[in-house]
Amino acid sequence: MNGHASVVESFFFRGRHFFVKRDDRIDPLLSGNKYRKLYRLLETPAHHYHTLWSRGGAQSNAMLALAALCQRKGWRFHYMTRHLPDHLRQRPCGNLRKALELGMQLHEASNPDVWQPPRDDGVLVVPQGGADPLAQDGIALLAEEIQCWQQQSDIRSLHVALPAGTGTTAFYLAAALPDVCVLTTPVVGDAAYLQWQMEQLGAVSKNLRIIEPDRPCRFAFPCRELLAMYLELKAAGIEFDLIYGSLMWHTLLQHIGRIESPVLYVHSGGLSGNDTMLARYQRAGLY
Ligand SMILES: *Cc1c(COP(=O)(O)O)cnc(C)c1O
Repeated sequence: MNGHASVVESFFFRGRHFFVKRDDRIDPLLSGNKYRKLYRLLETPAHHYHTLWSRGGAQSNAMLALAALCQRKGWRFHYMTRHLPDHLRQRPCGNLRKALELGMQLHEASNPDVWQPPRDDGVLVVPQGGADPLAQDGIALLAEEIQCWQQQSDIRSLHVALPAGTGTTAFYLAAALPDVCVLTTPVVGDAAYLQWQMEQLGAVSKNLRIIEPDRPCRFAFPCRELLAMYLELKAAGIEFDLIYGSLMWHTLLQHIGRIESPVLYVHSGGLSGNDTMLARYQRAGLY
């Protein structure tokens, strides 16, 4: 079974009690939901593959998690991304630097979306952001941990909140917890786009509710409200990531007045990207 069950902590914030499931503490590189999504691959015997391919952004948390996975398994890791800005190519930082140090081979392309991976049984292709049914096993374990905790704590009606990029984590978590209301917010695009992305995985469970931010921020760009949220959460005792966690909290707090039952927030990790984000806030004169 899962030897890495994460703890649930009480978190008092803005006059209300929350619970936070500390998936960010499971592993510094395979952090938060990336550990859950890659759980099946972590359990896969190394000889099943020799090489893994994926693609996405140059500072992606999924990229770093895949690089750590491949390093542990002894698999080669190829990653496609758009052309890097010169300063980043000359001096890689943040998640990109860590992934390169773990042996990732980076390929820059003007359009990584049209690229076709090689066909070979020993080659595994992981879609961008790990949006794949392979995520289901690890997220089912997360759901089991939540159910156990809910029973032990004698909580009848529960809301679970977590941010959505591809929506893969929220999709499978809602499916595995039919009696819980799962709240999520779209971080990458709008609600319609998130809904569409989740529908690519199957029928979306009725207990999954998308709540929208009042004012969308451009994905992974410095935004005053998100920095303020990040700093306030950190001062209250828990660090979240500046892209997903800050926006989920921001949106959750806008809707909290209508949520009566206890809220369990699943920390989705991503703290390894905070240094490079804070540096961008600094360059933008916001921090
Ligand atoms: C990847 C990531 C997400 C998004 O997960 P999805 O399953 O793609 O919705 C949320 N939070 C953090 C910190 C992440 O790194």
